Amino acid sequence: MTFCVVGAGFSGAVVARHLAERGHKVVVVDERLHVGGNCHTERDPETGIMVHKYGPHIFHTADERTWNYVQKFGTFIPYINRVKAISRAHVYTLPVNLLTINQFFGTTMGPKEAQAFIESKADKTIKEPQNFEEQALSMIGQDLYRAFFYGYTRKQWGLDPKELPASILKRLPLRFNYDDNYFNHPYQGMPRDGYTSIVKNILNVDGIDVRLGCSFEHVKEDFQHVFYTGPIDRYFNFSLGRLGYRTLDFERFLDDGDHQGTAVINYCQEDVPYTRVSEHKHFAPWEQDKFSKTVCFREYSRLADENDIPYYPIRLVNEKKLLGNYIELARAENKVSFMGRLGTYRYLDMDVTIKEALDACDVIDTALQASVFS
Ligand code: FAD
Ligand code: UDP
Repeated sequence: MTFCVVGAGFSGAVVARHLAERGHKVVVVDERLHVGGNCHTERDPETGIMVHKYGPHIFHTADERTWNYVQKFGTFIPYINRVKAISRAHVYTLPVNLLTINQFFGTTMGPKEAQAFIESKADKTIKEPQNFEEQALSMIGQDLYRAFFYGYTRKQWGLDPKELPASILKRLPLRFNYDDNYFNHPYQGMPRDGYTSIVKNILNVDGIDVRLGCSFEHVKEDFQHVFYTGPIDRYFNFSLGRLGYRTLDFERFLDDGDHQGTAVINYCQEDVPYTRVSEHKHFAPWEQDKFSKTVCFREYSRLADENDIPYYPIRLVNEKKLLGNYIELARAENKVSFMGRLGTYRYLDMDVTIKEALDACDVIDTALQASVFS
């Protein structure tokens, strides 16, 4: 049988390989000129530094199957994401931890004292936070919220935090010790040769025909089934309207040596127009000394228009309603499965993307056995 996979990111690559390993032919199309989707990495032409073209990506997971899977396709070097944040002309560490709290309030508290102190600052009248702001106020109170979250979130989402779901903030830990690891997951690492090399290796198996620079809209063949990881609204030609996305603009600049001393610095106040600056040589500490120059990117967030790359799904009430209607249409397409961050219009970390694709492979096996695709 011949299948089509639209999109050569992690979602598409995992499914394509699985089908090929089961002896089927798979045409993988991606309109970009590279595989890897939004996780794509490439050597910066001027400095030679490995850059994450669509924004910084740190691999982290608690799912053992996913961790074992990716390691079959490349070497991961242990890497802990430690983010710095600038607010009111001081540098702090994030996520909010004991050092952040002590530096911010000019104190020397221990864990229990700090916890009691933050609890005294938290707004206890909010029992069930209904939005981002309420979630923040009920967790950390006004002072830390205003310093680290209010301005950054307005820049990132272009909305008042009261209009955003509480779930966005729940991604971040709050700690009363000096652990400034940005993630809680036990497995974290950076691929030694970049993410694109991992995706290339996943796709490197007999039976897969990768067509780059090729959009699905131009594919004329018939397939037994299509696994579509592009935007769900685009598949239906935006017939019900467009789902909202934030897009990012990256302003590249060079410096000598070390520019900021770390990989990522967030700028939490609104008087700085960008959200963060990433210095990519620090994502690969094992080779950073090889480069005399450094390349950095200022990151600006704005509402995506139809020609922009979709990055963050906005998922407010209207979008959720529209998504529901597209899902209805998708259910009626029995020769197409919608997958991945764009196909399901969700913010998915890489590990979740891969886990969901592996779960889809289990479903595919059952479908193949039941001759569903024939
Ligand atoms: P994608 O990678 O988007 O791949 C979809 C592919 O489909 C694209 O290459 C696109 O060109 C192609 N395509 C779409 N439509 C068509 C069409 N009609 N025809 C042909 N081709 C088409 N995750 C983490 O785990 N850690 C991080 O640190 C992290 N950082 C992130 C930072 C940013 C700024 C963003 C936006 C995301 C981050 N993520 C991170 C999430 C990560 O990018 C996603 O989990 C991952 O890219 C999802 O893979 P995917 O295959 O579903 O989609
Ligand atoms: N956030 C913030 N200040 C920061 C970092 C994050 O206000 O310095 C908020 C922002 O709204 C962001 C959310 O917390 O969207 C989740 O942070 P995360 O680092 O997970 O953002 P993402 O990976 O989505 O860019």
